Amino acid sequence: MKTYDYLIVGAGFAGLVMAERLASIGKRCLVVDKRGHIGGNCYDEHDEHGVLVHKYGPHYFRTNSKRIKDYLSRFTEWQPVVYEVKSYTDGRYWSFPINLRTFEQLIGRSATENEFIQYLREKKVDIPNPKNSEELIVSQVGYELYEKFFKGYTFKQWRRPASSLDPSVCGRIPIRMIADERYFDDSFQALPKEGYTRMFERMLAVSPSVELRLNTDYREVADAVEWARMIYTGPIDEFYDLRFGRLKYRSLRFEREHIPATRLSEREAISGKKGFWQPALQVNYPNSHEFTRIVELKHATGQKCSGTTIVREYPMEFEESGEPYYPIPAPDTAEVYRKYAALAEGEKRVFFVGRLATYRYYNMDQVVGMALKTFENLESF
Ligand code: FAD
Ligand code: UDP
Repeated sequence: MKTYDYLIVGAGFAGLVMAERLASIGKRCLVVDKRGHIGGNCYDEHDEHGVLVHKYGPHYFRTNSKRIKDYLSRFTEWQPVVYEVKSYTDGRYWSFPINLRTFEQLIGRSATENEFIQYLREKKVDIPNPKNSEELIVSQVGYELYEKFFKGYTFKQWRRPASSLDPSVCGRIPIRMIADERYFDDSFQALPKEGYTRMFERMLAVSPSVELRLNTDYREVADAVEWARMIYTGPIDEFYDLRFGRLKYRSLRFEREHIPATRLSEREAISGKKGFWQPALQVNYPNSHEFTRIVELKHATGQKCSGTTIVREYPMEFEESGEPYYPIPAPDTAEVYRKYAALAEGEKRVFFVGRLATYRYYNMDQVVGMALKTFENLESF
């Protein structure tokens, strides 16, 4: 029987950071993933037209942590990006997230920061401690802007009203009084220059003591090899055979469309840029269409190609797709998760790391941070 120090379940960000760190101190690791590729949901690839796409939805790397950026910089160079997003509603593109430019579009003329602050003072609802996502947004901008940009999008994405979601969900989106149109506030915003997959390949390349098995569910190997400890990065409810019932997840369907240069001319009038289909990297559709957003990654990668590829995102039930893309941050789901977390705390040989294993709506940098921290704590065992 083959022997490993660690069986690592999942070759996404969490699993690969753990594998790289553990291999760096000489631990023998077996990484398994049931998918046929590494990278988890961050996997990217070139489509059949040579355009780089993020297979599981757009992955915009950003962080405020120098430590996380420095760690990843060992495996990649970076392409700095200003992630630009617009919202399409009432038949026009709006500056988004809400900022002074959005207000100017709303009133149809240029305005000062003070005018916008005055407007918000009149509109916002006095809620000292917002308890859900609707309260959080209306307490900052009032119902008019909430209904224009948040209410419909949130319902489409989660199939539940914003009033039943934790404040942290809509709280991911900044609201600014100044004319700052960036989607995020983080000090570092960039994509791996040659893509995420290449970065993950390099992480594995520096770790020769890591063995990788793709297309493998960990249940197929857990009893067939010997391992001292397990790092588990899959859904926590599945680890416990759904003992307390299925945790709720939200899923997506991605629809890709390639538009060759010969068919782009009409759209170029709308995008305002030669070779592009839409005016920004991402356009959100809060109030029309079945999809929530359209992403044209070429805006961010800087890739030189005459055609372009866009991806429409259709929210769907987890039960239909089997892909648990989003944990649902809400009081009812937290209650079920707490039961699983209590079981996990009692484990001596299994460590739960990552977005699905800890049921947290975490970004990539937070998952890297969690993996690095878990590694440090393992050392003290
Ligand atoms: P995952 O990437 O989900 O990896 C878990 C792996 O475990 C998977 O590959 C899975 O196949 C494997 N696995 C599960 N069960 C088993 C099993 N039984 N046996 C073997 N293998 C198993 N973050 C950002 O920072 N910026 C963004 O712009 C961003 N956009 C996103 C857009 C979408 C649509 C989604 C879904 C997520 C986005 N994220 C973004 C979040 C990002 O994807 C996660 O933070 C990150 O991928 C989490 O890594 P992970 O390793 O925890 O999980
Ligand atoms: N959201 C919204 N309107 C938008 C963008 C976001 O209502 O135009 C809300 C929605 O509930 C969404 C959440 O804010 O799920 C977080 O948005 P983000 O863009 O961070 O979603 P992700 O990229 O994680 O899917």
